[in-house]
Amino acid sequence: MSIRVYNTITRKKEAFHPIETGKVRMYTCGPTVYDYAHIGNYRTFIFEDLLRRYLEYRGFAVTHAMNLTDVDDNTIRRSRERNISLQALTDEFKTAFHADLKTLNIQPAHHYPEATNYVDAMIQMVSHLEAKGYAYKAEDGSVYFNIEKYNQYGKLAHLNPEEMMRGGRVADDSYEKEGVRDFALWKGYKSEDGDVHWESPWGPGRPGWHIECSVMSTELLGPHFDIHCGGVDNIFPHHENELAQSVCATGSEFVNYWMHSEYLLVDNKKMSKSLNNFYTLRDLLDQGYPAEAIRWMLITTHYRQKLNFSVSRLEEAQKAVNRLREFYSKLQAYEGAGEEHAHDKIQAVETNFIEAMDDDLNISGGLAAIFDLVRWGNKALVEAKLSTVGVTALIDLLHRFDHVLGVLEMESGLQVEIDADFIEAKIAARKEARANKDFATSDAIRDELAAQGIELIDTPEGTHWKLK
Ligand code: AMP
Ligand code: ZN
Repeated sequence: MSIRVYNTITRKKEAFHPIETGKVRMYTCGPTVYDYAHIGNYRTFIFEDLLRRYLEYRGFAVTHAMNLTDVDDNTIRRSRERNISLQALTDEFKTAFHADLKTLNIQPAHHYPEATNYVDAMIQMVSHLEAKGYAYKAEDGSVYFNIEKYNQYGKLAHLNPEEMMRGGRVADDSYEKEGVRDFALWKGYKSEDGDVHWESPWGPGRPGWHIECSVMSTELLGPHFDIHCGGVDNIFPHHENELAQSVCATGSEFVNYWMHSEYLLVDNKKMSKSLNNFYTLRDLLDQGYPAEAIRWMLITTHYRQKLNFSVSRLEEAQKAVNRLREFYSKLQAYEGAGEEHAHDKIQAVETNFIEAMDDDLNISGGLAAIFDLVRWGNKALVEAKLSTVGVTALIDLLHRFDHVLGVLEMESGLQVEIDADFIEAKIAARKEARANKDFATSDAIRDELAAQGIELIDTPEGTHWKLK
């Protein structure tokens, strides 16, 4: 039996076959680092973590790239509102993001490309598209992708060609399906962009959001790779546009399996910054909810179902994690020497787990198998039936399952990464900002460190730091 996954482009579950035997290359769209990510964003990142962990459990060697969008409309707007450089703003939230990933026990990607490090390659891809006749420059110095030149446009989001607006164009990174038209690959400089611009064959400007991911994925994983993920809101326009750009620029196929996770909701509405109905991870930790309950809540509803956030779900989640952890502790403390090697049970449970999870990550089925084991094991422990071989085999099985779930041994609080060189460099940058009377930047650096749990103390002899 092979793994089957739901492929957004075909709207079907398909058998998963990687391009290279035994290896999987996956690209997942990461956060826009202009603020803390909210737990809706983490629902998507945890789904991707589950997918990667399960592929690894099934023996694949996975290479995972997740980008950080550190230049786009939102980052530029926020850095200007706060009167700090784009880099000071994005540094603050990149660091916070990495701490959040660690806190949620999300496995680190192998690559975290940051868009601003790939601008030359983006300019090259846009030039290529222009040379091949897929792109044109407009009066404002921006370059647009001509959707009429690519007859497969709309295939991913299943757009109706009749509804596409011919001759129209859109400069914004986000727009609705109802307004399908030519989109910006490169955005000509506008005064709102402040000091954020790069030189290009079309004059000063900056990349559009979609070209960022086409370039970073191709640079790191090659033009044709296995899996591309994101939340369902990424299907259109972001992934539709990425697909068009990549295929037209490289002439290769792009992605074999497109996988998208459904929304985390609050009162039946999408959790989002714009509706101001969001919780950050730190909000929930501050309210006393442990990280493992948050991870469990987000992982245990199937990724293609909407999930309504609620405090009672978090409480239920904590109970489930506790049950699993208690079972694990009891196995570790067990000293009996019965006859039961648990061999048949372990085989049956693992077969059920794999059968469920192979079916497009059917997590409810997977958990049913695990908790069947917990019930059986608890009874065997009470009856002191288990042999030492059996206990060791059960502990090994729990370790294998936990490679997928990642909750047995995670910490409950925010995971702060202490890197003394990094902190000293920030203190030096803050000193320089203060010498230049750039107090917005110096405050941003203080906030960035505070978000990592590091407090700065100014003394007449200089600035020191300590953990809060
Ligand atoms: P952004 O930083 O807005 O680019 O979002 C990062 C990721 O989070 C994207 O893959 C989005 O699709 C995803 N996302 C945003 N809001 C939600 C939500 N309420 N539930 C699940 N995923 C979301
Ligand atoms: Zn992306």
